[in-house]
Amino acid sequence: MQNNKEWQTAYSVIEQLEQAGFEAVIVGGAVRDALLNRPAHDVDVATNALPEEVKLVFQRTVDIGIQHGTVLVIVPAGPVEVTTYRTDGEYTDHRRPDKVQFVRSLQDDLQRRDFTMNAIAMRRDGTFVDFYGGRQDIDLRIIRAVGDAQKRFAEDALRMLRAIRFSAQLDFTIAEDTLIAIQNRAADIAFIAKERIKAELDKLWLGTTVFRGLQKLEESGLADYLPGSFQADRWYEFQTVDKHVGWAYFALLQGANWQEILRDYRISNKEMAFVKSVLTAYEALKSGWTNTHYFTYKEQELEAAIYFAKLLQFDVRLPSEPIYVLQDKLPIRQKQDMVVNGANLLKWSGKKGGPWVKEVLEDILEAIIHNELANDQQQIKNWLDHNYFHET
Ligand code: ATP
Ligand code: MG
Repeated sequence: MQNNKEWQTAYSVIEQLEQAGFEAVIVGGAVRDALLNRPAHDVDVATNALPEEVKLVFQRTVDIGIQHGTVLVIVPAGPVEVTTYRTDGEYTDHRRPDKVQFVRSLQDDLQRRDFTMNAIAMRRDGTFVDFYGGRQDIDLRIIRAVGDAQKRFAEDALRMLRAIRFSAQLDFTIAEDTLIAIQNRAADIAFIAKERIKAELDKLWLGTTVFRGLQKLEESGLADYLPGSFQADRWYEFQTVDKHVGWAYFALLQGANWQEILRDYRISNKEMAFVKSVLTAYEALKSGWTNTHYFTYKEQELEAAIYFAKLLQFDVRLPSEPIYVLQDKLPIRQKQDMVVNGANLLKWSGKKGGPWVKEVLEDILEAIIHNELANDQQQIKNWLDHNYFHET
């Protein structure tokens, strides 16, 4: 079915396991995405070989999650995650099984998986192992828990958010019993680490129908137990390929305490810096951007702010040309491009250093950016003689 490199690599791993007398299949997201004609990213292999046995079959392996049965097998074509069939033990913390048990039956392994669409296995000969009607649910575009939804969400509360994330990502509906179970168990999401919740939202923002996903998040009551407010109706046309843009838009909808809320999700400093820039640029749009903004902010930050203004039908004067064109027209693109520095100022003025140096440099920068002054030593010196040095 899939002829890309990842699938071929996974098939070669399966072949070697079979030659050693084991059974192995492709399972999970890769099979689901292939059936949906979506590009595969991770092609995972499941096998009845125990982790120790997998390690004997291949020359190069890395223990990446050996306690859960996952070994990274490295073949010349690339790495493949190989996980031993397993069943999960009791769940007492609503997060993770207390212990996992390796089993020899594929059906038992598929049964522990979250949704029918994620519980389909594919053999090397192209045949499917589909005990739970996963292919039919994919055809109907339905997310349905494997087995008793209520019980499955009680075991692992993150599955509820996964259901909603997948519905936004794939534009699927959620089966009625599965949705009702989310409504009943919503409060359990509090058991889940914020980092894992964030990872799901990262993917949700990239979905084809974020709006509908957030509607379900609110309808199911799950949103009530997550930091911040989602306001599904404001995401109507939202679409992005950059999760940072999702977080920035979410932040914009929060009002004054957005930083606290984003920190609650443990977003990184880099993400926080991006969000801050976008929000500041967005605020500045009210009075219109000048060259200072084109100089200060990155193209993606300004593009995001414009996008948000459009989504919220915020009445502002948008730039007349594409951002990159306006940025290309700037006389300089970064501070280091200035031909003068503090040492020049000290020498020319004959004054002692102090906070004034930085201030004057900033004035020079502003004047250059606004094309009021050329980035030329002699002209800058004349400008200084005229505007500053003669005054004292
Ligand atoms: P994505 O495209 O986001 O990677 P995925 O389906 O591959 O989607 P993963 O988190 O990579 O999701 O998990 C791989 C597989 O492991 C899933 O397809 C599913 O079968 C199973 N799985 C993952 N998380 C859970 C969970 N919380 N409970 C039960 N099964 C799970
Ligand atoms: Mg995956």
